[in-house]
Amino acid sequence: MIQVEAIPVLGPVSLARPSNAPPAFHLLAKPTGAACNLDCAYCFFLDKEAFYPGSAFRMSDEMLDNYIRQLIESHTVDQVTIAWQGGEPTLMGLDFYRRAMALAEKYRRPGMTFLHTMQTNGTLIDDEWASFFKEHNFLIGLSLDGPRELHDVYRVDKGGRPTFDRVMRGLRHLQAHGVEYNLLTTVNHVNGDYPLEVYRFLRDEAGTDWMQFIPVVERINDDGLTLYQRGTAVSDRSVGAEQFGRFLSVIFDEWVSRDVGRIFVQTFEASLRNWMGMASSGMCVFNETCGTGLAIEHNGDIYTCDHFVEPDYLLGNIDKSHMIELVASERQVKFGRDKLDTLPAYCRTCDVRFACHGECPKNRFLMTPDGEPGLNYLCAGFKAFFHHVDFPMKIMAGLIQRDRDPREVMLIMKQAFAGASRNEPCPCGSGRKFKLCHGRPAPIPGAQRLPSPQSRSAVNRNMKS
Ligand code: SF4
Ligand code: SF4
Repeated sequence: MIQVEAIPVLGPVSLARPSNAPPAFHLLAKPTGAACNLDCAYCFFLDKEAFYPGSAFRMSDEMLDNYIRQLIESHTVDQVTIAWQGGEPTLMGLDFYRRAMALAEKYRRPGMTFLHTMQTNGTLIDDEWASFFKEHNFLIGLSLDGPRELHDVYRVDKGGRPTFDRVMRGLRHLQAHGVEYNLLTTVNHVNGDYPLEVYRFLRDEAGTDWMQFIPVVERINDDGLTLYQRGTAVSDRSVGAEQFGRFLSVIFDEWVSRDVGRIFVQTFEASLRNWMGMASSGMCVFNETCGTGLAIEHNGDIYTCDHFVEPDYLLGNIDKSHMIELVASERQVKFGRDKLDTLPAYCRTCDVRFACHGECPKNRFLMTPDGEPGLNYLCAGFKAFFHHVDFPMKIMAGLIQRDRDPREVMLIMKQAFAGASRNEPCPCGSGRKFKLCHGRPAPIPGAQRLPSPQSRSAVNRNMKS
């Protein structure tokens, strides 16, 4: 039984703070619900409009006030993250966010600071938006799937038109104003075959030093929609398990040979933290448990996670219950613990479990080889990737633990592999031939050329459900 203590409140819904309430949590706000100006073919969120029939999909000013107030009241730490996502959050218009800033200031406690973040497709960002983001120190996540030929395969607008130029224009506005940003690349069936083209484009042409690679695993329900995390069928747009492992491994090899300490790749950093035995990897998917990353819809409904915005995972509405009661509810605590409690024996005995932890529960819909449900669809890829990076990860972890510069790994790797010959065992100790391991990543089928605009539209026609 969870104990509660009453503390004074400012607004109509009283705050009874459960004793198990976390001091901080991450809540993704969706002020436009699923509404978006684009129609990205693989977007798992667009179908969610069906859960709110007749809605205008706009967070009201009353709800905005309630949301900001409760978010601040719920935190007992001095820094609060106010995170916006969608749908497309910029559709709310700048004045909505100006009001949000004023409300944050109104409810701010002495000594409290805010980290404002927004995940956006970037197509509406102009000089005025960028200047606003800079003024309030926003951290912007911008979705970009690689060079034009790869980005425009799936990231199209409502008329099916490509969006690459509009996204790049938004990015240049952010850069011109010195806004802090990172690039989020979804790895799908098409760009998954072009790891180096994607990585080098993001680094050298887009000009970022911070990247996230998110696998597209799109479960298709019996009715052909993607409303629920149900069923074992995935769309043709989804990245393959081995394909994703190869994608990460090829990029890692380039990164560890020249970019350590210069380019931040979220998956690599999270892996290193796990190799060092740190308490958190910094990514919920690679932690033992989860449950502190929730989502709030435009009407105040709170869900367990951004990936589980569906009725079975609705915790309640902040007009009826205080946010912190929902965040600390037994249902939410169980949701987070289930990540560990439902891990199949195959994962529990896996040699890279410490790095993977079975990844995200939403992707656990395969059978293990011994017939237990709950194996991650991406397992084969994660296993391959984590084995591939084991040697350099151990080197980097060792360097940091001895207070040395982890960038030394680049020279150490070069020296370790300098005299290795192709058909001999790889110096990393994997037992595989050098040419099949760190000697050179496996060739990527069909990856010699980027798709032409013609084949790109053919891909789109064939794959759009
Ligand atoms: S369900 Fe997946 S995405 Fe959601 S919090 Fe858990 S690990 Fe993270
Ligand atoms: S690599 Fe596969 S078996 Fe190992 S923990 Fe991850 S999902 Fe489980």
